Order: sequence, then C-alpha cells, then structure tokens
Amino acid sequence: MKACFRSIVSLLPAAVLAVAPLSSAAWDYEGHRMVNQIALASLPKDFPAFVREPAAAERIAFLSGEADRWRNSPDAALRHVNEPDHFFDLEDLQPHGLSLTNLNPFRHVFTVALAEGRKANPSAVPAVSEARNQNQNRQLIGFLPWSIAENYAKLKSGFSYLKAFEENGTPDEIENAKQNIVYIMGVMGHYAGDAAQPLHTTRHYNGWVGANPSGYATNTTFHSWIDGGFNIRSGLQLEELSGKVRPAKALFDTIAPPNRPHDVFSVAVGFIVAQHAMVEPLYQLEKERKLSGETGTEAEGKAFMGGQLLKGGQFLGDLWITAWKEATPDTFLKAQLIKRKLGGKGR
Ligand SMILES: [Zn+2]
Repeated sequence: MKACFRSIVSLLPAAVLAVAPLSSAAWDYEGHRMVNQIALASLPKDFPAFVREPAAAERIAFLSGEADRWRNSPDAALRHVNEPDHFFDLEDLQPHGLSLTNLNPFRHVFTVALAEGRKANPSAVPAVSEARNQNQNRQLIGFLPWSIAENYAKLKSGFSYLKAFEENGTPDEIENAKQNIVYIMGVMGHYAGDAAQPLHTTRHYNGWVGANPSGYATNTTFHSWIDGGFNIRSGLQLEELSGKVRPAKALFDTIAPPNRPHDVFSVAVGFIVAQHAMVEPLYQLEKERKLSGETGTEAEGKAFMGGQLLKGGQFLGDLWITAWKEATPDTFLKAQLIKRKLGGKGR
C-alpha cells in the first residue's frame, strides 16, 4: 500500500528498485480475506445463494487481494490509477482548503478542487518531488471513499443486469452476470478492508510525522507491522471473529431514492472518519507496548485488530446487501432482450 510505496522507495537502492516489486498490503492478504469472509458470513439467507457456493465464496475471498496485486505491477498506467484508491489522508484536506463538509462525490471534480487548492495554498501543501513522482500521483491525498462508492455502483449495476437476464436472457448470459457480480464483490471488498485500517486514513500512515507531543512511534516499519506482522504474531484467526458477526443490513432504507447514490459516498466518508478516530488509540497501544508481539502483552492489540477487521467485514456486507436491494432491473437491457425474444435486434 502507499505507506510501503513511500517508505520503501526511500530506503532501497535504485538497483533493487529496478527489479523488486514495491509490494505490500493494507491488511496483508490474510486480513483482507478475513474481511471478505466476514462479509459473506453476514449475508442473510435471502441474498442470492450463488455467492455462497464454495467456488464463488473462495473466489470472493481470493479477490480481496486483487487491488494489492495490481500494486505490484511495474506499469505506470496501472500504478497511477490504482495506488491512490487505497487510502484517504484526512488531515491533508485542510491545507488544500477542503473539508469533509465540501467533498465532491465525483472523483474528477474533487481532483480538480484538490489541484486548485494546491495552487491557492502553495505554502501549506507539501511540495512533491517530480524526480520521485514517476506515477504522477504523489500530489493526491487518496480516493478511498470514491473507490468504494464507484465499486458499489458497479455491483448495483451487476445486480440490475442480472435481474434483466434472469427474466429474458440465456443461461450463459445469466451465468456470466453472476460471475461478474462475484468478481466485483471480491474486488470491492479490498477497499472496505483498507477503510478499516486506521493507517489508511491518515498522513501518519507509517510512523507519526510532524509535531509529536504524545511521543508516538515514528519508525517506518509500523505500517507493515499493523498490516500483518502483529496479526501473525498474535495468531488472530477468522474463527475468533465469526461468532461476533451481525447480519448485514441495508445502509439507508429510510432515505429517498434520488439521493442514494451520493449517500453511499457519504456513508463511506463517515466510515473512514470513524476509523480515523482510531489512529491515536492505535499509536497509544503501540506506546504502551501492547503491540510489541511479546508473549502475554498481545490481548488488547489483538482485540483492537480483530475489531477493525470485523468492522470492515460488516461494512462490506452492508454495502453488498444495499447494492442488491437497491438494484432494479436494467430497463434498457430488458427492452432489448424482449425485442430479441420477439425476433427483433437484441444486443
Ligand atoms: Zn489496499
């Protein structure tokens, strides 16, 4: 994830960088798998059963790691677009003249506002070294809530066209639509998992930076330790969390439909803000040596990490069920399929 991207770049010699993928995760793959599996466990019985078939469930779990696999690509086009999708550094809004109250739910409109804010506040915004900005994304502060909202919309679209195909499509079309849904559910789970990792919401993503009155850790191994090192050491297992999973619930049954697409963005921002509030408690745990991994000290840290993974999984399950419930049959496709059935031209 970006933390390791930034920190590893500064530590490794150029020769190593040329061959080594700058890999890492938010949560490591194991943590992301848990998030997707918790979300699957939260789905009620009336949710489409095909997602729970063993092959589909395993694919959804596997795809939790997909967005991090993309991070290992040497291709700048993919790195440019993928890397900022994993985080959103909330403290960096204010120096750009932005705030949580004026965030635009459209990614590109927000990007323009960010660029304008950078231009208008040159002394407040950290300079970006062009020599270290090969992928042209270091001036960004992250797109995590946009990424969640856009993937939600893709999933909703998937359920919409599945519904149309189920009414008037061929068995192959129905099967393809189902496979697409499984794919989107799996991939979007990564971002819900990232949002549950407090270090993905802050400029203190890999050790505290700047003024540090509380004396928090500044070491640049902190992020990778929280991503997975500590969880491995503490032996955190999915089974310990499964008993705590509550049934998924739709995010906003009470809000009028026209506002709902933007509401998913707002819900995602709200979730990220809530996890941002866990940044200092996380650093505090480290300060109290409850994340040291030393035997006998791990209970509180393990509960904290398990709690965050659980929150990510529940958030994801709620997004999935909302997309399913909100999806109405794709009317354009439906008309085309009916036309095809009647002997006219379909698509
Ligand atoms: Zn990530």
